[in-house]
Amino acid sequence: MKIFKLHFYKENSVFFWLILITIICVLSVTIYSKNRDEQSKKIKSSLENIYLKKIVKEITENLKPRYTVIEYTSKSGDTYQNIINKLDVKKSEKQIVIDTIKKEKALKLLKINQKFNFKLDNLTGKKVIEFVIETDKKNQIVFTRIAKKKTFKSKKIKKNFIKKLVYKETVITNSLYNSAINLGIKPNIIIEFARLYGFQVDFQRDVWKNDSFQIIYEEFINENNNVVDTGEIIFANLNLQDTDLQLYKYEYEKDKIEYFDENGKSIRKTLMKTPINGARLSSSYGKRKHPILGYTKMHTGTDFAAPTGTPIMASGDGKITKAGWCGGGGNCVKIKHNSTYQTVYAHMSKFGRGIKKGVRVKQGQIIGYVGSTGLSTGPHLHYEVIENGRKINSQKLKLPSGKILKGEDRKSFEVSKIKIDVLKSNLISKMN
Ligand SMILES: [Zn+2]
Repeated sequence: MKIFKLHFYKENSVFFWLILITIICVLSVTIYSKNRDEQSKKIKSSLENIYLKKIVKEITENLKPRYTVIEYTSKSGDTYQNIINKLDVKKSEKQIVIDTIKKEKALKLLKINQKFNFKLDNLTGKKVIEFVIETDKKNQIVFTRIAKKKTFKSKKIKKNFIKKLVYKETVITNSLYNSAINLGIKPNIIIEFARLYGFQVDFQRDVWKNDSFQIIYEEFINENNNVVDTGEIIFANLNLQDTDLQLYKYEYEKDKIEYFDENGKSIRKTLMKTPINGARLSSSYGKRKHPILGYTKMHTGTDFAAPTGTPIMASGDGKITKAGWCGGGGNCVKIKHNSTYQTVYAHMSKFGRGIKKGVRVKQGQIIGYVGSTGLSTGPHLHYEVIENGRKINSQKLKLPSGKILKGEDRKSFEVSKIKIDVLKSNLISKMN
């Protein structure tokens, strides 16, 4: 009973307060409406107040992240200019960055797989406030903007990574890619491995079950013993039907690295057999029933089935003679490599950055992406090789090797090769 009473009084007091608040509200509304005109004028003028505008702008800008970080890894065919051009900043800003890079001796030569990191300040009309460029896997240069100036101060920093040489070997049971992944080899090493062998091996047809491979490559380990990055392939051997295809990394000139076989012959050829990674050869060169037209027709190229968007590489150095619509071929790119060879890449979904008629491309540079444009039943790359104006079978192409090491170069290569062989046996003995 007592409890009920208390409750009753409480409800009464709430009722009292409600009435009081209502009275206050009514009163204030009456007073306010009297000065309504004056008030609205005041509000209007304060909204137009430049300081308030500034504050509002700052608040909204603060809602967006102040800094944008852009990471990039250099690819074949890149220049500092085209990397910097990717940044969403003013032209004058780009020039400042370019000029800063040019002053740095250690960055004279842009290498493939060099890492870039840019920090943009979105608040000050998008300015680059810091950027980092790797000089090699263990060192980097940090450029910090001097406040409110158009210059950067630079500092060389050693990354705290330990370089480790890794040896892996296996028999191929399923696919080369799966066998490598099962061994714990990082995908970018597998891609590089496929690119290096892409000159001489057709992965679809030449690699059989029970073939094997060996590989030595660099790994970078941080203080927590985690692999943070991979470096270069030092040695590889692909054993196909009891034939060894060996390749040794060799620096034939300062900062110029190439891969040579055991006889000092460069593995690089004028053209690649497979200008695409991870693709399945779906239709080879020769007579076949056309999947869309229905009748038997000569298939003058090689088809590689791959998902839409898979990058397509220039199979050799050359000049683009067409990057546009080719009718049945859809979006296509044609490259003239020299007076003998031309290559064609058809059915692309889109072209690579900066790929247009007249542009020079490097072997391995991305020229476009797999698609199904033109007369096509599904995403694939139609690849043609033209030799002296005649279409030939790219998969049977026997191209002369590039560089052959002779004289002093050969001697120095032999020394480097022995070192790698010794390293290999050391790494193998540690495995057991
Ligand atoms: Zn085709």
